[in-house]
Amino acid sequence: MDNYKKIIEDIYLEIRNVDDIGKVPNYIPELSNVSPDNFGINITKINKESFGVGDFDKKFSIQSVSKIFALTLAYKLEGAKIWERVDVEPSGNPFNSLLQLEADKGKPRNPFINAGAIVVSDILVSHLKNPKEDFLNFCRELSNNKNLNYSEKIAQSEKISGFRNIALCNFIKSFGNIKNDVDQVLDFYFHICSLEMSCKELSEIALFLADDNFVTHKGNKVLTMSQAKRMNAILLTCGFYDESGEFAFRVGLPGKSGVGGGIVAIHPDKYCIAVWSPKLNVKGNSFKGMLFLEKFTTRTASSIF
Ligand code: GLN
Repeated sequence: MDNYKKIIEDIYLEIRNVDDIGKVPNYIPELSNVSPDNFGINITKINKESFGVGDFDKKFSIQSVSKIFALTLAYKLEGAKIWERVDVEPSGNPFNSLLQLEADKGKPRNPFINAGAIVVSDILVSHLKNPKEDFLNFCRELSNNKNLNYSEKIAQSEKISGFRNIALCNFIKSFGNIKNDVDQVLDFYFHICSLEMSCKELSEIALFLADDNFVTHKGNKVLTMSQAKRMNAILLTCGFYDESGEFAFRVGLPGKSGVGGGIVAIHPDKYCIAVWSPKLNVKGNSFKGMLFLEKFTTRTASSIF
């Protein structure tokens, strides 16, 4: 860990004041109230050793990073049949695009764009008795952390401004790939996006994707080895929307971003690292988060390539 600590501190100091060309998003009104100066990093190794700098302990809206946990639960419940409803191909399009759904007859290209996560939400609504509560409990078990919660404020803010997601859900339903009531599916989707975590919590909750021997504190295995391999593969190829190639090229780890400015990246068999900086580049990914991770994997020689 000492080697990682020094490198994390060095990069943090080096880029903390870098002129950040990104912008805090305002299409979800509540997100624009977050200070753009927040910057935190936390690494957790599979032996649970943890180290953070900056705002690593401050909670933020993880937004699309929660798509990892939604897919994980849906994959557990539905098994391989899930791939009949959502594909595993990079979309090469923005995260909120409607474009390909017409030609693809309502089957989203992958589970990490909004269209795919809305179908995953529908699958969870079908399986779970109390979807919001059950999903939150699943996340709490994954991380052995009772302190995880939705932000009602963020969920409501997204609900009143979520015209694209509303359009996506209705459009997919017109092809028969949404089975439940559109309002219920969207309410669930907006809530999972509103989950709040700190970098420390985010780097801990993703450990099940880094550690083959991971079991929750209740003794439950989360995914089989083959399922975990597939999750990491989709994260590598689709976790950053139309910037997934760029992330693999610069950072070289499976990972997932969110419009709250968070990124989590996974090094199978070694560690999970989470970075938070709210200003986003044009593709909707944290500008400084990507810069940090690029420098980190290069200096520690710890990408998967
Ligand atoms: N809640 C956001 C949305 O649906 C999530 C998008 C993201 O984080 N990329 O637009």
